[in-house]
Amino acid sequence: MSATGQRTTKTVTKRRQRRRAWVGYPDSELLQLRLSDLGLRFEGSVLERRVKRLHRELADRGIRFKPHAWLSSEWFSPDGVPGIAIPFYLAHPRLMKLEAKKMLEVEGGTAASCMRVLRHEAGHAIDTAFRLHFKKSWRETFGHYSQPYPKYYRPKPNSRSFVLHLEAWYAQAHPAEDWAETFAIWLTPRSNWRQQYRDWPAALQKLEYVDELMRQIAGRSPAVTSRVKVEPLSQLKKTLAQHYRWKTKRYGAEWPEFYDRDLRRLFSDDGRYARRPTAASFLRSIRREIRETVAEWTGAHPYTVDHVLQDMIDHCRRLKLRMARSPNRAKTEAVILLTVHTMNCLLAGRHEIPV
Ligand SMILES: [Zn+2]
Repeated sequence: MSATGQRTTKTVTKRRQRRRAWVGYPDSELLQLRLSDLGLRFEGSVLERRVKRLHRELADRGIRFKPHAWLSSEWFSPDGVPGIAIPFYLAHPRLMKLEAKKMLEVEGGTAASCMRVLRHEAGHAIDTAFRLHFKKSWRETFGHYSQPYPKYYRPKPNSRSFVLHLEAWYAQAHPAEDWAETFAIWLTPRSNWRQQYRDWPAALQKLEYVDELMRQIAGRSPAVTSRVKVEPLSQLKKTLAQHYRWKTKRYGAEWPEFYDRDLRRLFSDDGRYARRPTAASFLRSIRREIRETVAEWTGAHPYTVDHVLQDMIDHCRRLKLRMARSPNRAKTEAVILLTVHTMNCLLAGRHEIPV
């Protein structure tokens, strides 16, 4: 490399370090930054390597299509553009930490879960690239692509007509998601889907359809080749605080303040109880038992009850609460609290999972 080249590299590195001053910021300061000011890049990141891995998986199946990818605010594959938007927080550990704190989970945060979501999005992208959902056979297998996304959906956890790939029985949300989930299972190396779904005839039929369709398009060039990047990070002027206000509202992950008050009444963060078991570990130890009891008496699906219970456990952990009364009494009151919040959830329609 020439001397000039070295100087350029040094300048770029310095500039990047200046841009990443936010790594050491406390959350309150970090949240004031605009997404576009984070200075994150897809190129050269671990995400670029994962997308290349996705491309290899497609090539191994004889598919010539390579979806492009870019950083944005969320996971999505835009209508009409055969590419994949990846959420910015996955590009830096400091932002993954913030995501975990705000949303209680980091979707795609591990290499394995990131690949799972990428394969799902690749399903949408390949559908767009080859205009697959216009085929009659596609419609007959998955349903009408143009039907509106429901505001909420009520999954049937015992259905054997849909594959299980992402969480929350997502294939049941919409024909487009059913397709993407089925494609993702088909694409996953060593997923052994014929064996895995041998007792699920309706789901297996969809997988066989994907297999046949992919055989047909193997070696062919896509019909839609746009490389447009929709809502790229560099153009998103909202602050992280604004982004998370929107996101917590959309996912209903906002835990009303008075729930915390209830938890403080049932457990305690007083130093007197510092040697007692934590509230979170106590709730986990009775999780199954109280979930079944509350589900039986409220008529709510155990998934709904478990969701509320998981929120309770997460918040007990965050509030550093410990046992302050006898296990028997704590259990009785935890059951009542769980029942009340489950009923609130049912009445508010929050038990159905937002798409
Ligand atoms: Zn999807």
